[in-house]
Amino acid sequence: MDQINELINIELLIQIAYFAAAILFILGLKAMSSPVTAPKGIKWAGVGMLVATLISFAHPGMHNYIPMTAAIFIGGVLAWWTGKRVAMTDMPQMIALYNGMGGGSAAAIAAVELVRLQSGGELTHAGTVSQVLAVLGALIGTIAFSGSMIAFAKLQGWMRKVYRFKGQQIFNLAIFAAVLYFGWTMIGGGFSHLELIAFFALALLIGVLMTIGIGGADMPVVISLYNALTGLAVGFEGFVLQNPAMMIAGIVVGSAGTLLTQLMAKAMNRSLANVLFSSFGTGDDGAAGAAEVSGSMKAIDPADAAITMAFAESAIIVPGYGMAVAQAQHKVWELTKVLQDKGVRVSFAIHPVAGRMPGHMNVLLAEAGVPYDLIYDLEDINSQFPTADVALVIGANDVVNPAARKDTSSPIYGMPILDADKAKNVFVIKRGQGTGFSGIENLLFFEDNTRMCYGDAQDVVQKLITGAKAL
Ligand code: NAP
Repeated sequence: MDQINELINIELLIQIAYFAAAILFILGLKAMSSPVTAPKGIKWAGVGMLVATLISFAHPGMHNYIPMTAAIFIGGVLAWWTGKRVAMTDMPQMIALYNGMGGGSAAAIAAVELVRLQSGGELTHAGTVSQVLAVLGALIGTIAFSGSMIAFAKLQGWMRKVYRFKGQQIFNLAIFAAVLYFGWTMIGGGFSHLELIAFFALALLIGVLMTIGIGGADMPVVISLYNALTGLAVGFEGFVLQNPAMMIAGIVVGSAGTLLTQLMAKAMNRSLANVLFSSFGTGDDGAAGAAEVSGSMKAIDPADAAITMAFAESAIIVPGYGMAVAQAQHKVWELTKVLQDKGVRVSFAIHPVAGRMPGHMNVLLAEAGVPYDLIYDLEDINSQFPTADVALVIGANDVVNPAARKDTSSPIYGMPILDADKAKNVFVIKRGQGTGFSGIENLLFFEDNTRMCYGDAQDVVQKLITGAKAL
């Protein structure tokens, strides 16, 4: 009797711990939606993960303590080490890697369950629904794993080529049909080892095939999609294991990933199908068909640009990927304070896909200490450009390209952009004639009111500070 009571107490403790972990995940995610509360949110979600991991040791019948501890130790050390070392600009591939691991873990859980089913046993949670979800989770998790690994290799620069071949979509569909067939045969049991291996091998292949044909410019959207798929796979496997923390975390990640994917696709004016099945920014997407650019780029000395800025009434700063590369955010904030001291009204305009991941610029500006009330989203600031004396574009390109408004033949036509070209004076900081991520020419750089400040963003902003201070 005592033993039964003890077991009930442990079971209750486990359920309470999972419930607490799930609450921490949800609160953490909510807090991550604002740069002010994001660091707190990450800690809450981390504590939730720790609680969920530790309580798994208390499960009755659990005996694999040594491999479990070793796995947690190795994973923890690797995550700590890579997390500490990663540069802000390499964050997207880091996310791809971690996300892939999540998908792979869900698939591994499914594999263990399916092997049990194959050898005549039952799943942890018996029943047809459980079997269907185990198979679906295995499929989705495996695709998310291999797809994320390819996305990582692409963003890391290990795989530069976009691989496409004639009839690729039909080939992909055939593989998908085959994997569905093998998945179908598994439901109810009675399948062979070979069928199980073929199922996982083909699912791995689908992830690879789906991703090798997508260009680097679309990779963040694809990563976000795989993130959503990983969440779904984890949720399904959570049902199979009857683990509420996994179910809730999976559903939360799955829906957040889906919303983020939609938001990114919308900000780029692309459909998800267009992202997955056309090669934007790779040279064979019609970029060559964009209209010819007339005029020339006119350079300006940063010292002269500093004079215009210091005597301006209002200036809007548009940061982009180049600011992240140059790590110029601290200098940008210093420049802002110098200009404010001179009476200039300075605001920041953030495009939803500026940089290489959503919120990239907000995170950098927050890190530098820029107050949030100076930072505006696209829809809030665009009407202010026509009255701004200066738009200072720092390492941004595609997100301020007026071709999106004017050139119907441009691959970015229709994408919402920041209307920097409408400001009275536009200064653009970039190193040379490099194009943006989409690989197309920027009409803004050729406008009469635009002047180019060539150089690394950090050096040029320093020169602007020196110039403005000297006045
Ligand atoms: P961008 O179009 O990629 O342009 C960045 C510019 O920065 C380049 O033209 C480059 O020109 C300049 N640059 C690079 N290093 C620099 C340095 N050290 N100092 C100064 N300038 C430097 O960037 P963006 O305007 O931020 O646009 C983001 C792009 O990424 C969009 O096409 C967007 O669709 C895509 N994307 C973003 C996300 C997201 O979630 N944020 C997701 C998917 C896709 P030089 O080489 O001449 O210096």
